[in-house]
Amino acid sequence: MGPLSKNKLNLLIVLGTLVLILGCMCDPNRNDSGDLSLSSDSNSEDAPARDDSDTGDDSGKPGQRDDKGDFVVESTDVENPNFESVHREITRAKVLEKAADKLNRTLILPHDITLRTKDCGTVNAFYDPRDKSITFCYELMAHLFNLFKSDGASDQEANEQMAKAVNFIFLHELGHALIDSYELPITANEEDAADRCSSYICIEEIGEEGVEWVVAAAEAFYIQSKNRQIGKEGLADEHLLEEQRFFNSLCMIYGSNPNKYSQFVSRGLLPEARAVRCPSEYAKTAKAWEQLLEPWRKD
Ligand SMILES: [Zn+2]
Repeated sequence: MGPLSKNKLNLLIVLGTLVLILGCMCDPNRNDSGDLSLSSDSNSEDAPARDDSDTGDDSGKPGQRDDKGDFVVESTDVENPNFESVHREITRAKVLEKAADKLNRTLILPHDITLRTKDCGTVNAFYDPRDKSITFCYELMAHLFNLFKSDGASDQEANEQMAKAVNFIFLHELGHALIDSYELPITANEEDAADRCSSYICIEEIGEEGVEWVVAAAEAFYIQSKNRQIGKEGLADEHLLEEQRFFNSLCMIYGSNPNKYSQFVSRGLLPEARAVRCPSEYAKTAKAWEQLLEPWRKD
């Protein structure tokens, strides 16, 4: 997995962008969330309830919740030498610390949520409800890079696409974290909800650049779908099929502005029969996340 150590600068760009994303969430009227994982993903199972923190300081707005926690960054060590330089740079640049700081200025939390990047020994990014933590594995970044490379991208293109997809995935994981921490009433598939939350943040909070992140993630889903055969386990998995995640991602973008993204339909990427329903689908998604997060926004 040389590409990452070779391209650590690009990774920094990625995560630097991530900081920008989270910065945008400082907008008082917004919500957010998201992670997405390409392979396996979140360990959202039984969470032996464990309250990590209690540093209450309420800000007393009607309907607003008590702020009893923060996003905190956990320092980690890398064991895989391939990821040492990336890890060192992320640590040195305090990428996660900056992101946490911006999130903390934006969101009220009922408890601490830990952020960490590390080598996990597996391709993954996940939210773990047991210790209330988001982990982004360097292996997933390398996997994304290789995925785009396998589709004919140059090193630079693959890095850029990887960077964008990483942002989408991080927001998907943040979505899991908020669903759990806020006990949000998600009535359908949580993986899909996290995807849509990420899409919504990217499109509404970030704008043009965020749309590129959704597109990059959609592209990754598409390439991944071409490279795998689906069996019973895959069909039973809680994640939607990559093909569905691809179309759903395009539907969110198209639905947010059908005129602007009409080429999705004219180029045959998004079937007309689905496209006509996307504006309404997107509007419902956006409204839902806005309402769910409203009580948890800081001024
Ligand atoms: Zn997930």
